[in-house]
Amino acid sequence: MHHFQHKNGSLFVEDVSVRDLAKQHGTPLYVYSTATLKRHFEAFDSAFQSMPHLTCYSVKANSNLAILRLLAGMGAGMDIVSGGELYRALLAGVPADKIVYSGVGKKPEEIRQALTAGILMFNVESMQELIRINDVARDMGKVAKVSFRINPDVDPQTHPYISTGMKKNKFGLNIELSLEAYSLARDLPAIEPVGMDCHIGSQLTSIAPFMEALDKLLAFYEKLKGMNLDIQYLDLGGGLGIPYSEEEPPHPTEFGAAVTSALKGLPLKLILEPGRVIVGNAGILVAEVLYTKQTPSKNFVIVDAAMNDLVRPSLYGSFHRIEEVQQSGRAVGDVDVVGPICESGDFLAKDRQLAEVRQGELLAVYSAGAYGFTMSSNYNTRPRAAEILVDGDKATVIRRRETYENLVANEI
Ligand SMILES: *Cc1c(COP(=O)(O)O)cnc(C)c1O
Repeated sequence: MHHFQHKNGSLFVEDVSVRDLAKQHGTPLYVYSTATLKRHFEAFDSAFQSMPHLTCYSVKANSNLAILRLLAGMGAGMDIVSGGELYRALLAGVPADKIVYSGVGKKPEEIRQALTAGILMFNVESMQELIRINDVARDMGKVAKVSFRINPDVDPQTHPYISTGMKKNKFGLNIELSLEAYSLARDLPAIEPVGMDCHIGSQLTSIAPFMEALDKLLAFYEKLKGMNLDIQYLDLGGGLGIPYSEEEPPHPTEFGAAVTSALKGLPLKLILEPGRVIVGNAGILVAEVLYTKQTPSKNFVIVDAAMNDLVRPSLYGSFHRIEEVQQSGRAVGDVDVVGPICESGDFLAKDRQLAEVRQGELLAVYSAGAYGFTMSSNYNTRPRAAEILVDGDKATVIRRRETYENLVANEI
């Protein structure tokens, strides 16, 4: 977080004053740091340099084209979960053969788009999906490369909504079914099984669940060996956590060392799908204080950013650090930071210790770079925020603030 710092009491993103940005572009405003994005990608990617690997950034964490372009320029592939994300990745100049396609509900049209583009592989999540991919590929006279997303039944010790690799989750195939899937895949004319895949959850703060999943995948790999398949890829998914508050997730270097050592000597190319760890702490959401309101039981700070801008606190009860953009040195009190949306679930922070703030002042909501803008909506007919990418002393608008006209443009 070295690129988001107070200088003389005023918050800067790299060399750009957040107050100046807010004055110029209004609020709520997402602001990202190029230096942070680059540093995070490099730190992650280099952690696996001892073996053949491809880091496929998970587009859904933050899909702004400027950010995709930046990462593509550093050699990133992409992990996509929809035809829309494929469109974005291609538009950003990501080579199709660096794109992997995950998700439980790929539509025939999306499968066709991916085959037309020539993506590296589909991460297949059900038998029916496999058959559908085969049908679409056969009709197109193509062969689809696939991995199966194996559900290793590992508890990632994270929020239930973001754990994906347990028996009860909708994702992937269990180990027994996976064996059947590979054997069916081998016999389908338009399918070429080339890899194994898993993604057990998000915001993991320890390496153990990853290693448990990896062990299960490697044991499974041994079983596949007798089946005359050419398995070349092992995709370990994403999920490495970041510090939002007090958590101390493993550094990518530590994660990389554990994974590469477990894979040593195996003829496999590793694929990784990091999202949050690349962009999460590379962005903040800036909001203006509209009102402060004291009630007998609570004190509220009402800001102009809401759950439609950043839904994580409402959806997962997530913690986002919030600080004044201009440090005031005023006394700290206990407040709820809430937005203007007509829902009691619309809050950015509950029972938070915050210096007393006043109308018109600015707050920075930290760690908002991942699953912030991408999960935003127009609820309450609120235009979505503008996004700014800072690079040194330069600030570029990478997404204009939506207008009311934008909001009704498709309505008839
Ligand atoms: C969301 C997702 C990721 C990225 O997860 P992070 O926790 O942001 O790293 C990777 N792979 C798949 C399949 C996903 O759905």
